[in-house]
Amino acid sequence: MRIRAENIVKTFPGAGRAALRDVSLSVASGELVALLGPSGGGKTTLLRVIAGLDAPDSGAVFFGDLDASRASVQERRVGFVFQSYALFRHMTVEENVSFGLDVRARADRPSKAEIRRRAHELIELVQLKGFEKRRPAQLSGGQRQRVALARALAVEPRVLLLDEPFGALDAKVRRELRGWLRELHDRTGHTTIFVTHDQDEAMELADRVAVLNGGRIEQIGAPDEIYDHPATAFVHEFIGESSALDAQMREGRLFLGDRALDVTQPHAAAGTLWGAGRLFVRPQDVVIGEDGPDAVEAEIVSVRRAGAARRAEIALPFAPRARLEAEAPVLASLRPGERVPVRFRRAAFYPVEAVAAE
Ligand code: ADP
Ligand code: MG
Repeated sequence: MRIRAENIVKTFPGAGRAALRDVSLSVASGELVALLGPSGGGKTTLLRVIAGLDAPDSGAVFFGDLDASRASVQERRVGFVFQSYALFRHMTVEENVSFGLDVRARADRPSKAEIRRRAHELIELVQLKGFEKRRPAQLSGGQRQRVALARALAVEPRVLLLDEPFGALDAKVRRELRGWLRELHDRTGHTTIFVTHDQDEAMELADRVAVLNGGRIEQIGAPDEIYDHPATAFVHEFIGESSALDAQMREGRLFLGDRALDVTQPHAAAGTLWGAGRLFVRPQDVVIGEDGPDAVEAEIVSVRRAGAARRAEIALPFAPRARLEAEAPVLASLRPGERVPVRFRRAAFYPVEAVAAE
């Protein structure tokens, strides 16, 4: 089932700025889209509007070609899982999973045997076979979230909306559930919208990621696109790691202080001829120790080990306040105080207006 949200505006009474400011999003049938962004960005609000739990001030939500505002929450057939979707404590796993079907009006309710069959099928799907008679208190956090997911799937939703479903769990369990959810999604093919503030979760899980900030979608694209071609300074800063420097564009050339900078792939610089802005560089795009026409002098400030690589903080003497993180191989000999040539493999320049807008 394809979902489209068009020009959604949502303001809460008494709140200053709108929670959603003209948000449009289209999710293809069977696609898994992550809504990623900082707290307060509008992720939950967008999900609730799509679910029909909140009405937008303006704009429309379509399920397929149907204007969903004309359908009740039940008619939308949405499966919803929240961060801490409290299961019914007095019910067993099987009863929790069956709940949505048990409470249906008699006319739509499957037979007892059919409900049981479906519940068992779903319990198997979320890998909890053998746990049917347990109560939530006898399950781990990860197991409870899997029960919540099975319960959401039991009503045969056309779309699955997940609001930070793994938010309350520890990092290792989150990673396990992430892989597991992706497999489940590939098998069942539900159109899924997954809210998270964890970029690794979004990048690993989703077909496409929508970065939501201040009630707007800053960018929507495949994980590679978001990471390699951030559309805005906000996205560059939010996704992955980067250092940001004050820079100028003069006649289409990039300057740090008075020094012109040659960047192999000056992403986002194209089109800007004059003006101040911010230059973002990822640590792995700073190449230390290779001299050449496009190299500039740098000074190593400090060196430390970071996972499989080494990290150096470097200063640029010609731009006194500039500090950059650079990644180097573990074997590289880097000493604090040492002067080295540095090249930028890639960097992205965003004019300051774009930065100030946020
Ligand atoms: P996120 O899920 O990305 O953290 P939310 O959608 O929960 O963000 O919130 C977006 C904005 O709307 C925030 O500024 C938040 O304070 C506000 N907001 C959310 N729900 C309500 C509400 N029920 N009443 C008033 N303001 C709300
Ligand atoms: Mg939220």
